[in-house]
Amino acid sequence: MLLVLDGLGDRPVKRGKTPLQLAKTPNMDKLAKYGTNGITYPLGPGVVLGSDTGYLSLLGYDPYQFYAGRGILEALGSGVKVYEGDLALRCNFCTIDGKFNVTDRRAGRPDDKTASELGKAIANISTKEFSFIFSHTKGHRGVLIIRSKSASPMVSDVDNHNVGPVTWSKPIDPSDGAKKTAEALNDWLRKAHQILKVHPINKERAKKKLPEVNFVITRGASMLVEGAPLKGATYSGMYGKSVKIQRFEERYGLKAACVAGGALYKGVAKYLGMDVIDVKGATGGFDTDLNAKVASAARALKDNDFVFLHVKATDVAGHDGDWQAKTKFIEKVDKAIAPLLKLKDTIIVVTSDHSTPCALKAHSADPVPIVIWGPEGTVRIDGVNKFDEVTASHGGLGRLSNKEVMPILLGIIGKAPMYGT
Ligand code: ZN
Ligand code: ZN
Repeated sequence: MLLVLDGLGDRPVKRGKTPLQLAKTPNMDKLAKYGTNGITYPLGPGVVLGSDTGYLSLLGYDPYQFYAGRGILEALGSGVKVYEGDLALRCNFCTIDGKFNVTDRRAGRPDDKTASELGKAIANISTKEFSFIFSHTKGHRGVLIIRSKSASPMVSDVDNHNVGPVTWSKPIDPSDGAKKTAEALNDWLRKAHQILKVHPINKERAKKKLPEVNFVITRGASMLVEGAPLKGATYSGMYGKSVKIQRFEERYGLKAACVAGGALYKGVAKYLGMDVIDVKGATGGFDTDLNAKVASAARALKDNDFVFLHVKATDVAGHDGDWQAKTKFIEKVDKAIAPLLKLKDTIIVVTSDHSTPCALKAHSADPVPIVIWGPEGTVRIDGVNKFDEVTASHGGLGRLSNKEVMPILLGIIGKAPMYGT
């Protein structure tokens, strides 16, 4: 059971303590006390990862080799139909002013109802050569599928992670397809803006002085080149011109399932050929039904050897710079995982994909804590008795990088390959 609290790692926010240090976490502390602990770098010292590359790394797939781009992961996770040759982009609803300056990258975080209604208004826009299919996923997030014989993933991101002038998409190789795709995408963005800015929802939001949800910024263009995700497929994108995925079960001999709310995490799981279990009430936000997710993950262990349970709101709080919210959510997760501690014959791992310090409101290269706990005869007990970034560093696992976590787990369950006789 791999429990990941997204963006958990932090830096001191009050009296020299991190949100995880401030939070009351009796269950995680119990795992720490009877388990083995350490700190782990997302990939290595000084490397800042996104969640997408963070999970590939944590699940033992070197992102430099296996990452094609974020778009296809979001598309797979959101349940949008993706066919061979489809180009997928991750989208943010955002706010721009009259001069095409992005003023809020998340349009004031619109609720699902608002964003999905606006998403419908721009769901299908086609030109002679390109079809654009937009789907809202969660909150301000969405996915754009570009379907065309000319589509190329070699186009630059419109979302540059900053406010300021819109950075229109540009071709990043000299091919005709890249040029056409960038032009068509920029056209679509302008058309979507024309539709969104006059939408009644935005008139209402303007009256209430809420940021208007009037533009879309895209990133991570990537393509399903060949095959089907659950059977192993080949992808391409600006980060990996051709990526052939060996399914998780083939790679490790472990049948695997994922429980997550957010599209990206489900997408990473599908990308690696894991089963994705949909849980009612799993939102990927603060309001997510943690009890339902934990129950569903525990049930999934009956038919699977490996379950990846993901919670997201720790990262959201980090991006918002809200350490109180982060601390509170950590405590909520801690309460909800009580049933996991009663599981028989189960190794439990609690860690994170990267740090999202409240002080930075962004991901950082800081390591995250990790605890591995299991029944008698599986893991050493190292004397650490609290689960947090600082105490964990005194533990028996020492300092790792996330790509070492799967090999360590395989070793613990007796599936590590033997070298020599
Ligand atoms: Zn993350
Ligand atoms: Zn994040």
